[in-house]
Amino acid sequence: EMSEVDEPPKIRQREGLRLLRRIGVVDPESLDDYRATGGYTALRTALLLGPAGVIREVTDSGLMGRGGAAFPTGRKWDATARQPVSPHYLVCNADESEPGTFKDRVLIEGDPFALIESMTIAAFATGASKGYIYLRGEYPRAFRLLRGAIEKAREFGYLGTDIMGHTGFRFDIEIRRGAGAYICGEETAIFNSIEGYRGEPRTKPPFPVEKGLFGKPTVVNNVETLVNVPLILTEGCEAYRRIGTERSTGTKLFCLSGNVREPGVYEVPFGVTLGELLDLAGGVPGELKAVLLGGAAGGFVRPDELDLRLTMEDAREAGTTLGSGVVLALDDQADVGAFLLRIAAFFRDESCGQCVPCRIGTVRQEEALHRIVGGRRLGDDLTVLRDVGQVMRDSSICGLGQTAWNAIESAIDRLGLLKEKP
Ligand code: NAD
Ligand code: SF4
Repeated sequence: EMSEVDEPPKIRQREGLRLLRRIGVVDPESLDDYRATGGYTALRTALLLGPAGVIREVTDSGLMGRGGAAFPTGRKWDATARQPVSPHYLVCNADESEPGTFKDRVLIEGDPFALIESMTIAAFATGASKGYIYLRGEYPRAFRLLRGAIEKAREFGYLGTDIMGHTGFRFDIEIRRGAGAYICGEETAIFNSIEGYRGEPRTKPPFPVEKGLFGKPTVVNNVETLVNVPLILTEGCEAYRRIGTERSTGTKLFCLSGNVREPGVYEVPFGVTLGELLDLAGGVPGELKAVLLGGAAGGFVRPDELDLRLTMEDAREAGTTLGSGVVLALDDQADVGAFLLRIAAFFRDESCGQCVPCRIGTVRQEEALHRIVGGRRLGDDLTVLRDVGQVMRDSSICGLGQTAWNAIESAIDRLGLLKEKP
C-alpha cells in the first residue's frame, strides 16, 4: 500500500520569491487568479518570438536543468527542435522521489497553471504536439489540481488546437502517475513506463533528444526547470541573467530538512552560502555535524565549510552537487551510522535489478556497511566498500547505480567516519 501525503504546502519565506511568488497567494484552482498575476503573458510573447526566438532566449538565459544534472536547457531544446523526424514529444519529469526533495510538489500544488503554460511554451519551441506529465504516485493532491487545471486550460483555448488564436499550433497534456518506484523517475525508465513496459532505464546514448518516447525526439524537463521559462520570456534573458552568478543563473529552490528549525522549501539566488541558507531556515538547534547536499547521490559538507557558495560550479569543486536541491542537516543528536545504513537500504531496495553491478553491488554495500556500523567489521570491509562502489560507478547503466556509493564515500573521505576500527 502506497503512502499518501495530502496537506497543502506551506512557504515561510515571503521575500525575494520568483518561482514561488504565487504559492499560497493565488487560488491554485483559479485560472482568473493566474491571469491576474501575469499568467499567459509569456506564452503570448513566445508566439510572437517564434520557436527559434524562444530557444535563443532560453539558451542565452543560461538556464540549466533543475532535476539534478544541470544540463543546459537551451541546448536540449535546440537539439530536439532540429530533429527531422516527427512527432516530437515533451515529458515533464514530476516523479520527484529523491530523498529530501519536495520542491516540485510545492510548485505543482501551489501554481499548477504555471507548469501548464511553461510546458506549452516548451512544446511550441521544440515542435512537440503532445506532452506528458509523469507525476509521482504519492502526490494525490498535485494530481487532482493538475487534472483540474489542464481541463480548465483546454476549455479556455490554452491547450488543444490553435492555442491563443495561433493558427496551426496544437498541443495537449496527459498525466501519467507513477506507482511508487524511485527508478521510474529516470528519464528513459519514464519512457518505458509510459509505453507500458517495465520501468527500467535504457542505455544512453542515444539521448532522448534524438530517440526518446516511442523512439521519437523528446525533451524531458524537470518541473522547476520549466517554470523558469515564463520569467525568462517576460523579463528577457538579460534581466534573468542578472540574478545568480555568471555561470549559475537565476534562483534555485532548496529543500531544507533534518535538524533545522524551520524545514521547508526556500528560494534563493545562486551564490548565497550554505550558512546563509541554513540561517534562513532558522538555523540548526544543536551542534551541526554535517550537511548532506544534493541528495542520497550527493555528498557531505562539514561545519567548517558553511561559506560554500551554492552554485553548480562551487558544489562540484567541493566534491558534491546541488542535485535536486537537498539540504539535509545533521546535528549532534543524529545517528550518522544509521543514516548511512538507511541510504544503503534505499538504493538496495530501489535498484531495478537490470544490471549486475548495481543489483549485486547495492546488496554487498549494505552488508559491509551493516557490519562496520554494527561493530562487526571484517578486516577488509572498507576495501570491499570502495571496490564495490567503484565497480558500481564505472559499470552501471544508469545514475542510480553510478551514484549509490557517493554519500557513503563522502562520509568516509570528507567526514572521516567509519575509518577507525572500534
Ligand atoms: P544525465 O547527466 O545523464 O543527463 C541530464 C540530462 O541531460 C538528461 O535529460 C539527458 O538526456 C541530457 N543529456 C546529457 N547529455 C546529453 C547530450 N550529449 N545531448 C543531449 N542531451 C544530453 O543525468 P540523469 O541521469 O538524467 O540525472 C541525474 C541527476 O538526477 C542526478 O544529479 C540526481 O541528483 C538527479 N535525481 C533527481 C531526482 C529527483 O527526484 N529530482 C531523483 C533522482 C535523481
Ligand atoms: Fe537498474 Fe541499477 Fe542498472 Fe540503473 S544501475 S539500470 S537501477 S540495475
